[in-house]
Amino acid sequence: MAKVHFFYSTMNAGKSTALLQSNHNYQETGMHTILFIPKEDVSKNSGSIKSRIGLKAPAVVLDKKMNLFNFVKDKDAVQKIDAVLIDEVQFLNKKQVNEVCKVADLLDIPVMCYGIRTDFRGELFEGSSSLLALADKLEELKTICTECNRKATMVIRLDKDSKVVTSGKQILIGGNETYKVLCRKHFNEMTKLLD
Ligand SMILES: [Zn+2]
Repeated sequence: MAKVHFFYSTMNAGKSTALLQSNHNYQETGMHTILFIPKEDVSKNSGSIKSRIGLKAPAVVLDKKMNLFNFVKDKDAVQKIDAVLIDEVQFLNKKQVNEVCKVADLLDIPVMCYGIRTDFRGELFEGSSSLLALADKLEELKTICTECNRKATMVIRLDKDSKVVTSGKQILIGGNETYKVLCRKHFNEMTKLLD
């Protein structure tokens, strides 16, 4: 039976690079894949998945009205699909994660999901929460705290004046904010959200 894999991390851990490398491995052996990118991310990706080290591949833009299961099922009927890879899965809603599970369970196609676990307040994203509950395999992609050498598991949002932001919308598109990855100790030192 095919599995749902969730590769989770904080930001800047090379998720897109890992996804594109995995996709490359499938294609190199003559296998067929479908890549998805949620609509929330399109402003910076315009229908493709790009990694910071310059890799790139076209991806289907996934909006909330689209049924991911039906889309994959229709494609699979024409040309056997060997794997589905989805970037930025934190932006999926619960219903879409259920569709991801159906792709594995009813179509027997493995699904590789890549996403950020928590937002700048240390709260789970909807898609990540559902995947942590439902995925068959959980794998952490590791990166290092920008303030010490511990593993970074958290992210903070900084405004245009580099001040730490601890409230506001979970998803911001096209703002002037920046993000920094931290271990939990430094996350709390800077946000006091865990006090
Ligand atoms: Zn640290």
